[in-house]
Amino acid sequence: MITLEQLSFSNSFGRLPEAFHGRLQPTPLDGAHLASFNAAAAALIDLDPGEAGRAKFVDCLNGRHPLPGADPIAMLYAGHQFGHYVEQLGDGRAIILGEVLNRRGERWELQLKGAGPTPYSRRGDGRAVLRSTIREYLCSEAMHGLGIPTTRALCMLGSAEEVYREQIETGALLLRMAPSHVRFGSFEVFFYRGEHERLRELADYVIEHHYPDLWQREDRYPAFYREVVARTARLVAQWQQVGFAHGVLNTDNMSILGLTLDYGPFGFLDDYQPGFICNHSDHHGRYAFDRQPDIGLWNVSCLAQALLPLLDPEPEAAVELARAGFDLYQEEFRSAYDQGMAAKLGLPEAQPGDDALAQGWLDLLASSRADYSNSFRALGEFAADPGHTALRHDLVDRAAFDAWARDYRQRLARDGMAGDERRARMMGINPRYILRNYLAEQAIRTAQAGDYREIDRLLALLQRPFDEQPEMAAYAAPPPDWGRRLEVSCSS
Ligand code: AMP
Ligand code: MG
Repeated sequence: MITLEQLSFSNSFGRLPEAFHGRLQPTPLDGAHLASFNAAAAALIDLDPGEAGRAKFVDCLNGRHPLPGADPIAMLYAGHQFGHYVEQLGDGRAIILGEVLNRRGERWELQLKGAGPTPYSRRGDGRAVLRSTIREYLCSEAMHGLGIPTTRALCMLGSAEEVYREQIETGALLLRMAPSHVRFGSFEVFFYRGEHERLRELADYVIEHHYPDLWQREDRYPAFYREVVARTARLVAQWQQVGFAHGVLNTDNMSILGLTLDYGPFGFLDDYQPGFICNHSDHHGRYAFDRQPDIGLWNVSCLAQALLPLLDPEPEAAVELARAGFDLYQEEFRSAYDQGMAAKLGLPEAQPGDDALAQGWLDLLASSRADYSNSFRALGEFAADPGHTALRHDLVDRAAFDAWARDYRQRLARDGMAGDERRARMMGINPRYILRNYLAEQAIRTAQAGDYREIDRLLALLQRPFDEQPEMAAYAAPPPDWGRRLEVSCSS
């Protein structure tokens, strides 16, 4: 275990030419203090969790004291926002301190979110408010607990600094970590500017550091593109299975590593509504829950467009390769989704007809507005012991359930797995605890009143989302009335 000063910085992205980023220093927040620290993320960089107790820890993250070895930069990118190309975005409120290599040689980029203005802030203040910082901090760790690729969160600071949104709030700082924060939009900016050599430099950087197996291949760019496509498809399939809506799937929020990135107005499904829109500002439902698979494909096609100059020197051949990527996305999504849904139903392997069985179950949930996560959990009890029909009472159309359950029992009988084993498997894939909006809201309200303990409680809970944790049973409950109508907007 090492101290903050002993972190081994390597800063490969910072060594790319100035065209890719801007150098700057974080602007300290007034009255910054540690709000929560995540020992699980600290372990990824071998950092002694005791470091969190040092006054210098806060000062180093808050920019009052330079962190030895760090070389702070903000990253340039562009992106398609709600379908329209915006030619310059970039890290408007995020600052990469640098990358550290851990004992295993793994690379972790340390990024501050909310650290003040950058060359890309446009009219923004470079700050993040406490409520959105809590949401990202908790959700990224909750996603990791669910086994879904994501950026991680080391800690968050609260502050006394006033930040102006619809009302006056206080600023906060998140330290998040990922092997890289490069986005689809990082490529788009150079494609649309016609700077194809920069495009190649960026692709080479990402392949060399993050897809090293492809580095030696002659077809490294098409192979890289296919790998990003496949990872994106599998990521979206995981979101759909767990009932996660990202909320702002702009191409600048799409990770080139296939990670869930940039948590804003996200939401987990409470009752099952396929058309759930979690982002209050998304008036047309572009990023509704059930549109995410198509949006993933749309975003992959934006990436393909940006990579065309690299895919093949012959434009027609490049377009063919790009198109093949769209087919690959659909195949990967379908197979990951079907396999994952079969597993959620307690079936070790997806077989023909299982997709209809899964859809039948989802239709039942939709027509009853049943709680998505809790219904799958209850299905685990039913599958292990079909005499156990508590589940039936939650569904409005009992006759439809009985008809579906007949087919389901027959399907279960066909693979002959023992009830106990099936139950254990289902409890290991269908979470008991998710970051419901009202749970995040409770932590936000108490934190705004100066008490951060609920953040730590939720963090510990969500790091083990499949375990029963009986003393925490209340956190599995569907939202109370006040928690159903919460609106989450992009303003953060
Ligand atoms: P987001 O919706 O958080 O993914 O942000 C979209 C773009 O707006 C990114 O370029 C952000 O860096 C920028 N941005 C968001 N909030 C702020 C802010 N308070 N100050 C400066 N830039 C911001
Ligand atoms: Mg973003």
